[in-house]
Amino acid sequence: MISRDEIAGVLARYDKNKIAIGTLCSHSALQILHGARQEGFRTVGICTRDRVALYNSFPQARPDEFIVVDKFSDMLSEENQELMHKNNVILVPHGSLVQYVGPGNVRDKLLVPMFGNRATLEWEGDRALQRKWLVGAGLKMPEEYANSTVINKRVFVKFSGARGGSGFFTADSKEEFDSKLNDRIKTGLVSIQDAKNATIQEFVPGVRYYFQYFYSPFEEPTGQSMAGRVELLGIDKRVETIDEAYRGLPNVPEEFFDYTITGNQPVVIRESLLPEVMKMGIDTVGNSVKLFSPGMQGAFCLETVYHPKSGFRVFEVSARIVAGSNLYPQGSPYSAYLFKEPMSTGRRIAREIRTGIGNGRLGEIVY
Ligand code: AMP
Repeated sequence: MISRDEIAGVLARYDKNKIAIGTLCSHSALQILHGARQEGFRTVGICTRDRVALYNSFPQARPDEFIVVDKFSDMLSEENQELMHKNNVILVPHGSLVQYVGPGNVRDKLLVPMFGNRATLEWEGDRALQRKWLVGAGLKMPEEYANSTVINKRVFVKFSGARGGSGFFTADSKEEFDSKLNDRIKTGLVSIQDAKNATIQEFVPGVRYYFQYFYSPFEEPTGQSMAGRVELLGIDKRVETIDEAYRGLPNVPEEFFDYTITGNQPVVIRESLLPEVMKMGIDTVGNSVKLFSPGMQGAFCLETVYHPKSGFRVFEVSARIVAGSNLYPQGSPYSAYLFKEPMSTGRRIAREIRTGIGNGRLGEIVY
């Protein structure tokens, strides 16, 4: 992995008065670019040719400068990295960066300062490490089964990588597991390699909540285990085809049994549950500091299922801005209590970079 010193070296050559915020034109780029603009930054969009028209069509989010590529992974070329250096670019990573450029390439080949802690990529990308991180933080996760022979209740089967729920399924027995998995391999939905590495989890019934947090080392501490503040910037719920399965009643067509994420809905949660929501965020940051100091920096999301009888169960952590935050370019029902002005996650990131430039601590929040 590219070292902190190497990134510090690049950052040292940057003109701090001309820092630009850059991102890949996908995922949450409109929000990131809009937020950067609100905080007075110049912006750079790394964009494939076919998307330039789209990003040009939103004047309040349009990047000041495009770096046009044939495919997103071309951002790694020497020429494009030099262009980013010349523009004093700090990159804001998101799910599409990881998906299209590859976590290994981002860790090892992208010598451009990125907002947050690059080391978290390794922890969020590996389900075993995620479990160590979250369970170690005292959070409850769904039980996991080593293989299909031990299935004795409903399970949820998932595949690795940022695939947005595509191909995931439920099963009540080993026979059902085998049959559904084979169907998916046959149609090419799931590769043999992915099938071998499938994660078999306890199916968790309840309501899904996706909590969008932000951790800032520059604000007054919220917990004893850390030096900064955990902010709840918003909550969403993903929209998946399965959510509308009732529309096919009484004989629900097979196509409805699809967990692919297609959008997001805003939600608020009962206020009496907020102490626990905050505690989960604080403990997640606290344990990250112990495991990979300086730990989680900036935006992250805990993806949970809540049931009144069993409480919150966390099935995933995203250690960066999530697409659900696209709901709140003008702030959320929670950011309103943190900031006087409309504060999206994208703008919050830009504000943090601005603060880091001002207090000379940029190196702590960029790696
Ligand atoms: P993930 O890729 O882990 O975020 O999962 C995608 C979707 O699968 C989620 O939004 C949930 O609808 C569903 N899901 C994931 N894990 C579980 C689980 N253990 N039990 C029930 N549903 C799950």
